[in-house]
Amino acid sequence: MQTQVLGYPRIGGQRELKKANEQYWAEKIEREELEQVAQAIRHQNWQLQKTAGITLIPSNDFSFYDQVLDWSLTLGAIPKRYQPLRTNEGLSLLDLYFAMARGYQKGGFDITAMEMTKWFDTNYHYIVPEFYKGQQFELTSLKVVEEYKEAKKIGIETKPVILSLVSYLLLGKAKEQDFNVLSLVDSLLPVYLEIIKRLTDEGVQYIQIDEPFLVLDLTEEQKKAITSFYNIIQSSFPDLKVIVATYFGGLEDNASLALALPVEVLHIDLVRNEEQLEEILNKVPASLKLSLGVVDGRNIWKNDYEQSLTLIDKAIERRGKEKIIIATSCSLLHSPIDLEGEVKLTTEIKQWLAFAKQKVQEVVDLAKLASVVDREGILVYQENKIAQHDKRTSTLIHHEAVKRRVQGITEQDAQRKAPFSTRQPLQHKALDLPLFPTTTIGSFPQTKEVRQWRAKFKKGELTAQQYEDLLKQETARAIQWQEEIGLDVLVHGEFERNDMVEYFGEQLEGFTFTQNGWVQSYGSRCVKPPVIYGDVYRSKPLTVFWSAYAQSLTKQKVKGMLTGPVTILQWSFVRNDIPRSETCTQIALAIRDEVVDLESANIEIIQIDEPAIREGLPLRKAAWDSYLDWAVRAFRISASGVKNETQIHTHMCYSEFNDIIQHIAAMDADVITIECSRSQMDLLDAFAAFKYPNEIGPGVYDIHSPRVPTEEEMLYLIKKAENYIPTKQLWVNPDCGLKTRHWEETEKALIAMVNVSKKLREESLVEAI
Ligand code: GLN
Ligand code: ZN
Repeated sequence: MQTQVLGYPRIGGQRELKKANEQYWAEKIEREELEQVAQAIRHQNWQLQKTAGITLIPSNDFSFYDQVLDWSLTLGAIPKRYQPLRTNEGLSLLDLYFAMARGYQKGGFDITAMEMTKWFDTNYHYIVPEFYKGQQFELTSLKVVEEYKEAKKIGIETKPVILSLVSYLLLGKAKEQDFNVLSLVDSLLPVYLEIIKRLTDEGVQYIQIDEPFLVLDLTEEQKKAITSFYNIIQSSFPDLKVIVATYFGGLEDNASLALALPVEVLHIDLVRNEEQLEEILNKVPASLKLSLGVVDGRNIWKNDYEQSLTLIDKAIERRGKEKIIIATSCSLLHSPIDLEGEVKLTTEIKQWLAFAKQKVQEVVDLAKLASVVDREGILVYQENKIAQHDKRTSTLIHHEAVKRRVQGITEQDAQRKAPFSTRQPLQHKALDLPLFPTTTIGSFPQTKEVRQWRAKFKKGELTAQQYEDLLKQETARAIQWQEEIGLDVLVHGEFERNDMVEYFGEQLEGFTFTQNGWVQSYGSRCVKPPVIYGDVYRSKPLTVFWSAYAQSLTKQKVKGMLTGPVTILQWSFVRNDIPRSETCTQIALAIRDEVVDLESANIEIIQIDEPAIREGLPLRKAAWDSYLDWAVRAFRISASGVKNETQIHTHMCYSEFNDIIQHIAAMDADVITIECSRSQMDLLDAFAAFKYPNEIGPGVYDIHSPRVPTEEEMLYLIKKAENYIPTKQLWVNPDCGLKTRHWEETEKALIAMVNVSKKLREESLVEAI
């Protein structure tokens, strides 16, 4: 039976590529050394898949930085600002590529990097292609051909993976107004045909063309473009076996279109959308092979063979074995590499997991098991069954009390005691803050020293007491400094936190952490998400110690600082045996207990950060409301255990609110602080048009840059905000946490910000007279 992997992680088992890239950028190694590291990774990946017995092994899934940027370079979609680097500076193609990814500041040049954005609903970021009217393309890099040849040279036949013409265009951004990227189809098509020609000349038999947009809402024009692209390929290369790969969702209303494409194989994601199988089996033409994506490329859980085989058996029964391929649901890029290296996970938890290398084996196991009648006699099947059974019944995972509590949540639990209009005057009375109150988003600079203390503490070079004392000093300094410069609502500074999700995960039950479970986020940046394996609950207070300590040092209000349930969920690997919404509710209850405990410790203002609410939005619009309903409800559950006088803040680091503003309002936070300094108008428009009732702190300066903003700029922004939002609803704050900044610029910026607020107060006093 045929088996396929849609893509394999390329960072290397020990993040070799990350390290080599960074050394190359720092000019510490030569290009040859970097190339050697890259080649070793590719060879290992191919060899591993071949040894396992995968029949359709991907090539061109390697990338030094990002596969979309690779493709832009292949097609010669190089924005004009980089041209001088090639013509005058004589940069190699690789260096040009890195310049596009990272910007170029050398030899008098100061060229900005290309934009980066999230790859569909994953945490991977790709480099956004830039498109211009009348843009010309030309075959510029032969990477895809070279990698195919490279594999062939070591005796491995691969299927090159490329991004479809339509999906590539739709992933890009039109850099001019009134211009439809699909108008570029005609100039791009010849380059595609040329690439495919070169590949077939080398003997390529199968090619994987990724068409992820087939699981999204498409316009008629986009649908036509997709059909016509495959028709042209088919007529130009009648012998080429094309695999159309869809992933991250179901085909739904695009099913008929996809099934009618003149290709050899259609790949569907049965992890994200199992229900689509029935319809597809009913409609699939006799000649089309189906690739069943049953092994989850997005997660870390061991495949449930019994469950996958139900789908596979059904498909084989209807189509015959020759017409079915067993596959990963999407590229394995999104899962960590190898479970074997994990020595700290408990054996019980470890037997529930599978990383990329194990997932390759799962694909092969499933294909073998598919041919067997008496599976019970087969070892891998038995072992898998035992692991699944253990997981279903483990007392590590299942806690009756947690499940009961979730069941017992009432509508009241998800609602503050009184509406905002009643809470607001009570809070104003209790908190006694001036107009234009100033605050920050939570973190202060995590200096090298602070990070070193934590490292030393973890290595045992500092005792818990020593570490705590150092953090106390740092916190005390931050409190004193905030008092000195006249901020109104203080924060403790988050010096004790490594990361806003990890810090909570480490203290909550139901979470565990890997040692080496790295996943590429963008370029050389990798993340190691926490693993939520079981029912989540809080067995002890999480943040009360530090908030109470900070509050004990000052008469001013110190704001408690928590990460919200949706963000904790979104940035973790989440268990797949219960709905995500249920895990989210469990986390919400844990945070709720923390909020109540903070209130009991006399913390009167509590912020619950939700920077990830928006990125959790489903790919299809039709699914938005149901996601937003449970996400907003989770936030409300976390926030609603307190009395009316306690002021709940939330924070989000983005500014596109137009399409979800009513849900943001439904969160009913007393104060929301948002990213705003980059695109003020749009944002405030949304809030004004909606008549957003609660208080807002539109960030008055961009913390992502070391640049210190002038008072004039900030004044201008707040005055503009005043045109949209009533004065008594406005707060003054930066647009995100200050963790990544240095103290030097932080001090200057915040002093200026406080001055601005003072000036505004004076002005409004004068006006009142
Ligand atoms: N409270 C967090 C901080 O200040 C918020 C971070 C975020 O929004 N990403 O660091
Ligand atoms: Zn933020």
